[in-house]
Amino acid sequence: MKITKKVFLDLTIFMIGFGLVVGIIFPIFVIIIGVPKVYINGLFVTSSIMAGIIVGIVNVVLARVVVGKKLNRLLKSMKHINENLDNYDEIDEEACFNQCLIPIDSEDVIGETSESFNKLVKSFISKLNESNSVRKFTEIFTNELDLDRLSEKAIHHLIEHTGSKAGMIIIDKGGLLEVAYSHLIKDPEKMIDLEIIHKAFSKNQRTSFEFQKEIKIEAGFIDFSPRTLLIEPVSYKKQVIALVLLASTSYFEKDILDTIDNYTHGLALGLNNAIIHDRLEQLSILDPLTKTYNRRFGMERLKEEFSRSVRTNTPMGVLMLDLDHFKNVNDTYGHTVGDKVLSNFATLVKTFIRKEDTLIRYGGEEFLIVLPGANIAAIEIIGEKIRRVIEETFVKYAKQEVKVTVSIGGSSFPELICDSYEQLVESADKHLYEAKDTGRNKVVSR
Ligand code: GH3
Ligand code: MG
Ligand code: MG
Repeated sequence: MKITKKVFLDLTIFMIGFGLVVGIIFPIFVIIIGVPKVYINGLFVTSSIMAGIIVGIVNVVLARVVVGKKLNRLLKSMKHINENLDNYDEIDEEACFNQCLIPIDSEDVIGETSESFNKLVKSFISKLNESNSVRKFTEIFTNELDLDRLSEKAIHHLIEHTGSKAGMIIIDKGGLLEVAYSHLIKDPEKMIDLEIIHKAFSKNQRTSFEFQKEIKIEAGFIDFSPRTLLIEPVSYKKQVIALVLLASTSYFEKDILDTIDNYTHGLALGLNNAIIHDRLEQLSILDPLTKTYNRRFGMERLKEEFSRSVRTNTPMGVLMLDLDHFKNVNDTYGHTVGDKVLSNFATLVKTFIRKEDTLIRYGGEEFLIVLPGANIAAIEIIGEKIRRVIEETFVKYAKQEVKVTVSIGGSSFPELICDSYEQLVESADKHLYEAKDTGRNKVVSR
């Protein structure tokens, strides 16, 4: 029953009205129970009505104090959440709980309302924090196309979200598995050979292992095995393109596991973009046959390295390699065998150079190696190692062994006084022709 649009005003009207009615009825009731009429005068009736009204007013005040106070507290919490909703990037749960939760100090409907409200606030904040976390995670992908950096950021975010100790991402690069990033996992490359990893790629479903002795987490002086290892496939168009591995020293909680999907969906998109980007980048800088750097990219690297050498006053060497009588290989065995010999040669040379060295396909069967930090003595050693291993290696064709040799010319700055990288290459080229002219299958560098 409503009189006005305000609950407490209605209550006031009802309470005072009820007090008034009681005040009026009371003298009649008094007569009924036999009190002599002489006592029921105007003053008695007025006092009775006044008493009724006062009881009504006291009731209203009490209701306002007892119930109104609790309702005001609820209202304040709601307003607080509402006002701060837009400003929250990440909610500090503890601070918010102090401000937003209401004390439960009764076992009635108000107590239950408060309890429900508190539950609602807690679940709301946890959902809000989770959606903020997923949003930040997704932002990583919109701003990052570099596969390594993207993997690094994603792993750190997932480690933090799941409370893991260590983690890594393995990606499938056209059938070849590669560690894109690993954090605190000992020997991450070894993981690629594990059967569980290959199974996870083919199964496309989450796998969780308890206690993995093959896996070690690096922790300062002592490495230890995690209690649980979670392998989460990241799939794009139903194809597993990567695996996220998370190693934890405890168990993963169910509500954490339930939210991982929110992250991996975004990760799949981001990784797929980055893999395509990486492939395009590689295509534009790599020679397709030998998978060595093409001349355009290689010359840029050489230019940079030469400037760095001059600037830091450190040596740098170059080796020019040319296969001997390679035309004969093509003429005798055909172009396809020639191609195989070339790619085999490049693969072998790569195993002899360091990560910071650059192997460039300079021309048809001519290669250039840029070796930062290498003086003449160093390039002679590496040149000789390459020459010998090529001499000892053969490519099988039908039942025949196809053998080639290589002539190598080298030069190094600043032992060769020069002021451009072109002069350095020219000098190596000159030495290469000297090697050719004096019998081939040799290294000349001074
Ligand atoms: P030299 O010892 O003087 O260097 O003799 P050579 O026969 O190696 O030198 P030449 O420059 O006469 O011939 C180079 C040959 O390399 C000719 C060319 O067909 C071959 N060649 C260049 N690029 C490729 C390639 O991508 N695949 C194959 N199969 N052969 C190639
Ligand atoms: Mg040649
Ligand atoms: Mg040549």
